[in-house]
Amino acid sequence: MSGVEESYETALRGKKGTSIYLRDSRNRVVESFENGRLDTAAVPGKNLVCSIDADLQEYAQTLMQNKLGSIVAIEPSTGEILALVSSPTFNPAALSGLNRQQNYAELTSNPTKPMFNRAIMSPQPPGSTFKLVNGLIGLDEGTLTPHTTCHCAGHYPYGRGVACHGHISPVNFIQSIMVSCNAYYCYAFRNILENKKYISVDSALTVWREKVMRFGFARQLGVDLPNEKAGIVASKNLYNRYYGVNRWNPLSIISLAIGQGEIGATTLQLANMTALIANKGFYYIPHIVKTVGENERIAPEYYEKQYSGIAEKYFEYSIEGMNMATKGMGGTAWRAQVPGIEVCGKTGTAQNPHGKNHSVFVCFAPKTDPKIAVAVFVENSGAGGSFAAPIASLVLEKYLKGNVLRTELEQWILTMNLLTNIFGK
Ligand SMILES: [Zn+2]
Repeated sequence: MSGVEESYETALRGKKGTSIYLRDSRNRVVESFENGRLDTAAVPGKNLVCSIDADLQEYAQTLMQNKLGSIVAIEPSTGEILALVSSPTFNPAALSGLNRQQNYAELTSNPTKPMFNRAIMSPQPPGSTFKLVNGLIGLDEGTLTPHTTCHCAGHYPYGRGVACHGHISPVNFIQSIMVSCNAYYCYAFRNILENKKYISVDSALTVWREKVMRFGFARQLGVDLPNEKAGIVASKNLYNRYYGVNRWNPLSIISLAIGQGEIGATTLQLANMTALIANKGFYYIPHIVKTVGENERIAPEYYEKQYSGIAEKYFEYSIEGMNMATKGMGGTAWRAQVPGIEVCGKTGTAQNPHGKNHSVFVCFAPKTDPKIAVAVFVENSGAGGSFAAPIASLVLEKYLKGNVLRTELEQWILTMNLLTNIFGK
């Protein structure tokens, strides 16, 4: 009911056959009616071939044990989903057989919600990973250039102010991604909204939002799984309702600059955004089924490039910034380094009003001819660099190298129990 079986029901179902019998007055079968002339043969359902890499899926699932969160890995050149993890998970076999009712009751009352598919159903603020989108939109709008530099004294000083953290200053575009400077993106976002070519901040926000949507946000991507959530990105209507018409300005909504506030994205959407950046401007709608039956193609939309509308040349700078984040001096994503592989990544932290922040990380590798794009979301685990980045890097290493040599890091993640942050167990 919540998996590919639901999406591909018509292919899997096949067709029932019929056999008509002649029966006597006591309803006993005498013979096949008219020698079976009216019988029809059953057509078996078709097999589905999934794009999931079974080894990677199993490994990614193991990394997430005793943690709440999700992982989505996509092959950028096809949009095929290589791994999709929601943790904790459950064994579907528990929902059939004699004990199914008891098992179902246990699963639905479990506070960790194992039946809730966090990968596609749990939109969360993307935090600083969203700076990648704002940066590209700024370059596209011309309100930002790759050479725009910004001094950061540890905060953005306007409005209520936005705090930053210690890093080199000034920073240019590439360095702003490397060190994840909040002030840089507050200036960048405000410039997008105050662009004189638009008659008002309202209309600039509307243009910005349309561009954000082309990255796959605030709408269902159309993955071939049921119950995908669209997430949200604030619109002028929302602010007009909240603040009143003409009663808000870029400073009222400055949190959007750093992926906080009225914005929510699923892990699937973040993995897709990363695949789009890896492809320098387009993505394929993520999907989990590769072929139906004997090499039958799936729906045609899964083979169509979905363009962001942003020039390819701008992606070079974002990618360089993401690469520097993993290996540059003061880079925020050094925990995502994999020896021998050029990794491009971006950390994020999703503020959680109910407890410890959630950690977010997106990455792809290798830098040239990328084979895998990954998004990791770990609930209640602090900043993005702390847990989500090393988990993502282990997923990269497993997929690109076959086995993981960084066993110390692996052991640390495997033995880490983050449920105690939430349930105190
Ligand atoms: Zn800064």
